[in-house]
Amino acid sequence: MQRPVLAANWKMHHGPTDAREFLRTFLQYYPRHGDRQVLFFPSAISLPAVVEGLRDRSDIRVGVQNIHWEDKGAFTGEISAPMARDAGAHLALVGHSERRHVFGETDDETARKVAACGRAHLVPVLCVGETLAEREAGETEAVVLRQLRTGFSLVDAAQVAHAIVAYEPVWAIGTGRTATPADASAVHRAIREELKQLAPERHRAIPILYGGSVNRGNAASLLAATEVDGLLVGGASLDAEGWSAIVRA
Ligand code: PEP
Repeated sequence: MQRPVLAANWKMHHGPTDAREFLRTFLQYYPRHGDRQVLFFPSAISLPAVVEGLRDRSDIRVGVQNIHWEDKGAFTGEISAPMARDAGAHLALVGHSERRHVFGETDDETARKVAACGRAHLVPVLCVGETLAEREAGETEAVVLRQLRTGFSLVDAAQVAHAIVAYEPVWAIGTGRTATPADASAVHRAIREELKQLAPERHRAIPILYGGSVNRGNAASLLAATEVDGLLVGGASLDAEGWSAIVRA
């Protein structure tokens, strides 16, 4: 197995002052571990504070939670992939369920954002996942694979090979309900099969993360599940001590 990826999505929490304070505590508890990759996705306004706070820690990477699909233009309130890269981001979440379901982001828009990441040399973390209604209708695999295929439809196999995929069932995000390790494995296996088509030579190198109410109690068993290469964590990544316990474990 490749080294696990442990990613913190802070959502709309931790402004610059809180972010600096968080990192002071976190870095005390988390010395370098070469056998895992830790990622932070702060809000865009806290990105410079996090990049600065991790200046001496090249083992930890930082990303943004969203980008616009255009590189520049009259899009008030948006940030572009080149701007994020210029500010020190190495990755971008694309198609997080809150973007899709709260802000109405479509599959086609995620595809354009993945393409924008490629132009700016940002690693896209393409998030896919079914709603509860879709799950109950037996559509999990169809929905997830459609999101995956469309999300990568504007980039070539080499760019797919540099991406990360996050399976985040919508019904599990922020709800306290998690997929069982077996359920996560089943969907991750289907994702891997699809990645085999999209990046035939390099599909094994693409980390597939699980996200959805991961916490200190369930992180290890989810991470041990077949085809789970890492975790994308929201709520449980907001506390520096708690998050360091998850990434150290
Ligand atoms: C997320 O925001 O990507 C997420 C998985 O949130 P939570 O861990 O709070 O469910």
